[in-house]
Amino acid sequence: MTNLPKSLRSRLAEAATFVPFRPVSEQQSSDGQTRKVLFALPDGNLIETVRMQYDRRTTLCISTQAGCAMGCVFCATGQMGFLRHLSVGEIVAQVLFFARELAAEDNRVTNIVMMGMGEPLHNYTPTLAAVDRLTDPAGFGLGARKITISTVGLVPAMRRYAEEQRQTPLAVSLHAATNEERDKLIPINRRWPVEELMEACRYYIALTGRRLTFEWALIAGENDTREQAQKLGALVQGMLCHVNLIPLNPTAGYDGGPSSHERVAAFQEELARFGVSSTVRVRRGIDIQAGCGQLRDRVILEQGNDFSQLLQ
Ligand code: SAH
Ligand code: SF4
Repeated sequence: MTNLPKSLRSRLAEAATFVPFRPVSEQQSSDGQTRKVLFALPDGNLIETVRMQYDRRTTLCISTQAGCAMGCVFCATGQMGFLRHLSVGEIVAQVLFFARELAAEDNRVTNIVMMGMGEPLHNYTPTLAAVDRLTDPAGFGLGARKITISTVGLVPAMRRYAEEQRQTPLAVSLHAATNEERDKLIPINRRWPVEELMEACRYYIALTGRRLTFEWALIAGENDTREQAQKLGALVQGMLCHVNLIPLNPTAGYDGGPSSHERVAAFQEELARFGVSSTVRVRRGIDIQAGCGQLRDRVILEQGNDFSQLLQ
């Protein structure tokens, strides 16, 4: 901004910022395909964003909150509790950070998944405002179908989302097909049990005509049995849906482990019997703590809980 007086420019350099956070730790997976950045917000909270490179796609996994209030037992973010909501700017800036980096490589963001830290529908208005900016042709201009919102199953917010008839796809983290099992993994299930959740899912499909994705983290000996697969099959049979199976990413606060290849294959086989399509999501960046919330945990372990040093 050479048209501004030098004194003003130096004052601006000190006082103003174009980014609402700064990167404080980065990691790259051994295959170079996954990169994770930990950002420190001005108040010292830490959030994570992951970039995943596929053949023709570059997917960003972004955060919508610092921490999360939902407390899912297997999730590193759930284990840290709720810290705060992110603003629209903080959500969008995660994308812009990587978009700049990609532009320098003659590449671009092709997909976004709201599967980083936080529950997007708990931070409803800023999250959807961020989606609007990212899809605005006069803004970032990404196709609405390229942004997936993932929810743990906040039923009233899902109904509202359905009624807004948005183009952005929805994914629901189911992980268990019975209340008995889901209550153990996902505390919020006690508030909105499986029957109510499924009703909201059907409502979404009916109103939007869109296919819904169910996410299922496969935990060895817990929710990866043939019996659980049959219960899931029976629950979603005939629905316009697809199941994403993700072998669990082990976390410090939960002693469950990922299912074996055999168990995963058997699970898929059972689902197929019910005519339910499924894919196994490859765990990307497992060697860099790329599961949501995990890099923050490692940095705190190594550097202590005093983020002021990270912010300098
Ligand atoms: N709060 C939202 C979005 C963020 S979590 C939600 O729960 O859907 C994104 C996905 O990662 C969810 O399906 C979540 O259940 C899953 N997840 C969390 N911790 C995981 C872990 N340790 N291993 C595998 N998947 C995990
Ligand atoms: Fe929150 Fe999603 Fe983690 Fe559950 S899985 S604690 S909803 S971020």
